[in-house]
Amino acid sequence: MSRLRTPSPGAGTLHVVATPIGNLGDLPPRAQQVLRDVAAVCAEDTRHTRRLLAHFGIEAELVALHEHNEQQQAGRLVERLLAGDSLALVSDAGTPLVSDPGFRLVRAAREAGVRVSPVPGPSAVIAALSVAGVASDRFAFEGFLPARAGARRERLQRLAGEPRTLIFYESSHRIAETLEDMAAAFGADRHAVLARELTKLFETVLDGSLSALAERVRQDPDQRKGEFVVVVEGAGDDADAALAEGRRIYALLSAHLPPSTAARLAAELSGAPRKALYGQ
Ligand code: SAM
Repeated sequence: MSRLRTPSPGAGTLHVVATPIGNLGDLPPRAQQVLRDVAAVCAEDTRHTRRLLAHFGIEAELVALHEHNEQQQAGRLVERLLAGDSLALVSDAGTPLVSDPGFRLVRAAREAGVRVSPVPGPSAVIAALSVAGVASDRFAFEGFLPARAGARRERLQRLAGEPRTLIFYESSHRIAETLEDMAAAFGADRHAVLARELTKLFETVLDGSLSALAERVRQDPDQRKGEFVVVVEGAGDDADAALAEGRRIYALLSAHLPPSTAARLAAELSGAPRKALYGQ
């Protein structure tokens, strides 16, 4: 039988602190105080965090904690917490653990009975959703898509029938290709929002069909610069969902069967019109 973990008496607290995603004014007073008070700040890139802390006149011991050393560092840091030190965990931008390191340390601290407490603040996923104007009562955060084109397209095909709003992170290197792949997988007319450089000087939020967004990004090199969140409306009604599912099945079957047979089977299985699938 599993038991609830009991807190370790005398241990410090691990504070998980969100930091700005661009605008330095977005570090709240409580976050500043915690960063000032802790024994050390665990940071993804210590030089980057030192600059952030310097802006607020905070001097702190910095410990590097990134995806390559997190496993080893976690044990040492938990020992320190158990000995009574309180620590803060930050990432380069936004909320730690959201497409960022920290999960292993948080898990190790919780397993050791150390209190883990959030200091909430910015995260690009929520910032983008808050200005997208798409259904936000339920959404699925998909983080970064695979870098390889084949794996990315397959992931998108699997998501085509998802009725919840979908949210993705993307970099400047791949944003153009990703929007084109999304238009192919979800349908050119699916509504989406492209949120770029949120809270920064060149903040831009564009909305339209996936094909219109892909076209705009292809034509305007400025729209390929910076950091991006893509918010895609979910597969709306039953017809959209059937079409998306039909396209997904067709993509799988057409690798092994003649196109006409693949389209007929995909139409039967999904309920989508055969003509809408053929040649996709
Ligand atoms: N932990 C961060 C958070 O809470 O948002 C995310 C870190 S992840 C490594 C970085 C990605 O977040 C970027 O590639 C981009 O997709 C997104 N992102 C971060 N800052 C952004 C901003 N100011 N505007 C748009 N997207 C941003």
